[in-house]
Amino acid sequence: MSPRRKTRQVAVGRVRVGGDAPVALQSMTSTYTYDIDATLAQIHKLAAAGADFVRVAVPDKRDTEALQRIVPASPVPIVADVHFHFERALEAIAAGVHKIRLNPGNIQDRAKVRRVIAACKERGIPIRVGANEGGIVERRDKGQRAAEQAELDKDYAAGLIRIMLDKLDEYLRVFDAEGFHDVVISAKSPDPRIVIDAYTAISQRYDYPLHLGVTHAGPPETGRIRSIAALSSLLANGIGDTIRISYAADPVYEVEDGKELLCSLGLRARTEPELIACPTCGRIEVDLFTLVQDVRAKLAAEITLPMKVAVMGCVVNGPGECEGADVAIFAGKGRGIIYVQGEQKQTVTEDRMLEALLAECRELEARVQRGEAKLIGARVEVAPPEAPARKDGSVPLKVLRR
Ligand code: SF4
Repeated sequence: MSPRRKTRQVAVGRVRVGGDAPVALQSMTSTYTYDIDATLAQIHKLAAAGADFVRVAVPDKRDTEALQRIVPASPVPIVADVHFHFERALEAIAAGVHKIRLNPGNIQDRAKVRRVIAACKERGIPIRVGANEGGIVERRDKGQRAAEQAELDKDYAAGLIRIMLDKLDEYLRVFDAEGFHDVVISAKSPDPRIVIDAYTAISQRYDYPLHLGVTHAGPPETGRIRSIAALSSLLANGIGDTIRISYAADPVYEVEDGKELLCSLGLRARTEPELIACPTCGRIEVDLFTLVQDVRAKLAAEITLPMKVAVMGCVVNGPGECEGADVAIFAGKGRGIIYVQGEQKQTVTEDRMLEALLAECRELEARVQRGEAKLIGARVEVAPPEAPARKDGSVPLKVLRR
């Protein structure tokens, strides 16, 4: 992992983006914003899942009117997504939103853009400037459109990134001229390779914080790979200050996956149990897939501490694959052996594996809460697989205190 790139910092309500702030996680509602109850319900769901702030679309005046009730009732800062109508931005700002997303490409009149900038400046609200693939190619000026198309025909990716950079330069000159620097930049594409190259180029040119995303990624089944491929590469290279994963599905999946990505890269502290599980192979002798899903659901429902729980198919490679787990089970023929922080606790029959594993998790949680134990307080040094197994088939583990 490279160190985070130094960027300017902006404030989205109480959430800091850029600078030394943690990478912020955001999502967008899929409700009609004027449907206040449905929108607020979704905002609460996204916030509960881990979103730091939430964007809402405001295509109509009834949407910005709804913001007057949504913003004060929201548990997280609200971003207004504005296209075409600068008046929506002014109304949203008056309603108290914490950030505006603007695409100056579809608000051609720069005087109108300047009015939005002035209103944001007065309230200390940042603006995200989006130079995304979908709206970047010139639509009005036929000559310019033909020139851009010729460039894209020659080398689509390189041409597109150059157009994105040119347009950003042009947009940002308007912001610069107004002395406005509370800017966040995005340059999304559905192609992860373009996303990686575009954001890398932008990060070398500007010190504004970057909003990362792969646009129109599709449903989670395919969009997940597309999004994670691009975002993990950029984040590992220290690029990116806020992320949104976008799916054609319930946006709560965006937040769940974004959170898992940030936790996996060590960019966000894990606050919930972490489940690791073996993929199974020809050595498997129990129904591990069902056990894993059951354990996942139970952990989510019952365990609040970020303990690491491992579910392994056998004792051959299992111990090595779950080194450092707080609670682990290694399944064998019709039974499972449970370890708690490296110490073997019990051997149970297959029908009791779920219940016994959860009982150990609950007990460890209670001990941690009483201050009698620490999570991952012990480092497990795993005996090699060829080490002689005990009579019950378990592999001896050596526990090293830190
Ligand atoms: Fe196969 Fe055992 Fe490894 Fe699971 S833990 S993948 S069953 S060797």
